[in-house]
Amino acid sequence: MSNVLPFKKPAVKPKGLCQHGFHRWKILQKQKFDVHEGKLITVYECERCGEKKVKAQ
Ligand SMILES: [Zn+2]
Repeated sequence: MSNVLPFKKPAVKPKGLCQHGFHRWKILQKQKFDVHEGKLITVYECERCGEKKVKAQ
């Protein structure tokens, strides 16, 4: 018997697509109030590389 797992997840996330600007944005915080901007913003995070961006409402 072997305890070796046949499928090992790669530790490094692939980010080849992100390098060409194709981030996979997901909403991290929806319509939170930014005190610096003085308005509602939505925070997005890329699922693949973890990059963040904010968008004003
Ligand atoms: Zn990305």
